[in-house]
Amino acid sequence: MRQKLVVANWKMHGNLASNKQLLEAYIANLSALKNVGVVVCVPYPYLGQAQSMLQHTNIAWGAQNLSKDPVGPFTGEVSAAMLKDFGASYVIIGHSERATAYCESDENIATKFVQAQAQGLTPILCVGETLIEREAGVMEMVVGKQLDTILNTYGAAVFANAIVSYEPIWAIGTGLAASAEQAQSMHEFIRGKVAALDKSAAASLKILYGGSVNPQNAVQLLVMQDIDGGLIGKCSLNAQEFEKICLTAA
Ligand code: PEP
Repeated sequence: MRQKLVVANWKMHGNLASNKQLLEAYIANLSALKNVGVVVCVPYPYLGQAQSMLQHTNIAWGAQNLSKDPVGPFTGEVSAAMLKDFGASYVIIGHSERATAYCESDENIATKFVQAQAQGLTPILCVGETLIEREAGVMEMVVGKQLDTILNTYGAAVFANAIVSYEPIWAIGTGLAASAEQAQSMHEFIRGKVAALDKSAAASLKILYGGSVNPQNAVQLLVMQDIDGGLIGKCSLNAQEFEKICLTAA
């Protein structure tokens, strides 16, 4: 039985004062929760704040990106080891907001994935299709290709220590979530693709859904067999809404 996991993606929101309030509310609301993992992925400058506030709680923290290189003359980049220095355990990789705006290739994303694992971080790999791709019926081909770059280069066993988040691009920040059936069908496809190569990695792989999850639609989504939790953007900035989603998952 895979335990549900809810991951907050704060994106580029917050400041020291507002983060303090939000994290205090997370701690008050979520510390006693059983049967669900909670992670908050903060902007790089606030990793230290997350570490000092969350280190003795059951809430883990992580980053929203990392460098594909371990060290070197890469101005502005942040390595996996640097994230570990601040106690991070998770890192989001290949989020479509980055992949599109910063032209991240599947190859770069695959390298980041193994860089993260090499330092003991759990990568949260985002995959998903555009609206045009869904309307054309090629969503499985698109998501399959995103996974293939990692599967073909590093094998399926790497997914035993990773998380995949299915994030249809048309659902992110739009208020238009995928239906529970659409999401379940893609999650089943993702698990099946890994299972074809490594059954045990597929059985333990957590596959999250992300894209306009809110306290109302969380109920239908999180009950689906292959939906192991959620990656939550907007609603993670509201302590009450985030709490409701975590309670639903629990
Ligand atoms: C996200 O950032 O990954 C996300 C799913 O955002 P939202 O919940 O706001 O759609």
